[in-house]
Amino acid sequence: MIVTNISDDTVTEEARNHWLKYWKHFTKEEYTYCSEANCTEKHDHGVLVKHRSPTSEKLFVVPLCKEHSYGYQSQLEIDERVDIIPAELCL
Ligand SMILES: [Zn+2]
Repeated sequence: MIVTNISDDTVTEEARNHWLKYWKHFTKEEYTYCSEANCTEKHDHGVLVKHRSPTSEKLFVVPLCKEHSYGYQSQLEIDERVDIIPAELCL
């Protein structure tokens, strides 16, 4: 699935760590790598991404390595084995 990384430089490292905890809380699959389809790094951050379907646009949290977290490319292909977690759930 193709998503857009909406985090920019104003999102702090602390916030990214919190989003990673959020993702870990909800994911059902154990996955230690960056969720970018071709990336072999371990994930460091949780990152807000936007996914557009024909009918809606939603925010999700995915785990990414630092390089992908800081959005050197904004369009990302997410590995299908990774749970993407809606950003509006309550802890
Ligand atoms: Zn990566």
